[in-house]
Amino acid sequence: MLDTVTTRSKEDLLRARDKHLGKNLSISYKDPLKIVRGKGQYLYDETGNAFLDCVNNVCHVGHCHPKVVTAGQAQMEILNTNTRYLHDNIINYAEWLTSTFPDPLNVCFFVNSGSEANDLALRLARTHTGQQDTIVIDHAYHGHTQSLIDISPYKHDARGGQGAPPTTHKVRMPDSYRGDYKTENAGALYARDIAGVIENLKGQGKGVAGFIGESALGCGGQIFLPEGYFETVYAHVRAAGGVCIADEVQVGFGRVGTHMWAFEMQGVVPDIVTLGKPMGNGHPLAAVITTPEIAASFANGMEYFNTFGGNPVSCAIGLAVLEVIQEEGLQKHALEVGSYFLEGLRQLQEKHALIGDVRGSGLFIGIELVKDRGTLEPATAEANQIIQEMRQRHILLSTDGPYENVIKIKPPLVFSKENAAQVISNLAKVLSDLMKM
Ligand code: PMP
Repeated sequence: MLDTVTTRSKEDLLRARDKHLGKNLSISYKDPLKIVRGKGQYLYDETGNAFLDCVNNVCHVGHCHPKVVTAGQAQMEILNTNTRYLHDNIINYAEWLTSTFPDPLNVCFFVNSGSEANDLALRLARTHTGQQDTIVIDHAYHGHTQSLIDISPYKHDARGGQGAPPTTHKVRMPDSYRGDYKTENAGALYARDIAGVIENLKGQGKGVAGFIGESALGCGGQIFLPEGYFETVYAHVRAAGGVCIADEVQVGFGRVGTHMWAFEMQGVVPDIVTLGKPMGNGHPLAAVITTPEIAASFANGMEYFNTFGGNPVSCAIGLAVLEVIQEEGLQKHALEVGSYFLEGLRQLQEKHALIGDVRGSGLFIGIELVKDRGTLEPATAEANQIIQEMRQRHILLSTDGPYENVIKIKPPLVFSKENAAQVISNLAKVLSDLMKM
């Protein structure tokens, strides 16, 4: 049997990767890592070094959580089939999952990735409304299929992209740090963009299928929506006959601490919600949650069958994840640790002019770096340098946002206050060293 832990050197793997994998795959860090094991909030390389994982929002309840592993193993030993047979797991899971949503969100479609979830959400919206046109937030990423590249400015407007198709309509990111509106009513002001798009479409005799937006913007740079944004956006979209889709692939399952679902921070109830990444703690499991009315429109005679979606093993794993979130009080834990973390980062901001903004809720945090707090000139190179230096200190971070100048923090929720303190003290040293250069 192949010894996957020790047999091949990093250099050998990089060479073979270059030959056998598509070249548009990136690799993290200038000094790439070979990670062979994970536990809780730690990743281990081939020599046994531990790295503190501040990046992986997929292994939500901790890498290789024993309860999740055992649930998957136990079900694999008994049966794995598909949703064309009755099985307790899928129904128990659908009941538990939908009980965490407000009414009338109580119908589930199980799929295998965030992209599949968003693709299906688009199909639901388009079938329900009979319209094609979709409104998206600038810089958003919703997935890797063609239908989603079409609604992901993060991809179609960036390197290699071919721009938006005529059915995609972009609105500005409701960014109250860097954007055009910074006042208390920024939410309502940004939402006017939607009204503008709808008016324009009406002028062309067209309606709108829907609006899709993350409940906190991940690839956009860890941006939390200004108060009232979704409320006003949803009102405009619904008045025009469209449906409102909340993408919770990055931010769902209690990560934001105050709520199980980040859309709840905005006081709205979407028509469709998409889930992914953390749902199976690393096992490919995702879902679309919608209303009975939209699900009924979709049941138009064409069967929806998904070979792997909702299989008994996936559902056993999904159930175990929900169980752990509840038993270990991880939503509350995320809020406590996140608040402590944010406070420490804000103290660091007072000492270092490079930190322009610290924002977040729970364990979904962004640190925006700027060269000048007046002009907000992005400190892109510095952000990259910091994550490389932190990696050498065995702390894993990443950058994102339109200028790649936002350090993202979204660790497994078992992350502790001690871990937060460790990140802050190391960041303080790295920032001080950077100032001396
Ligand atoms: N939506 C959002 C907000 C995402 O961040 C991602 C993945 N980065 C996706 C959808 C697509 O998910 P997947 O990679 O599982 O297809």
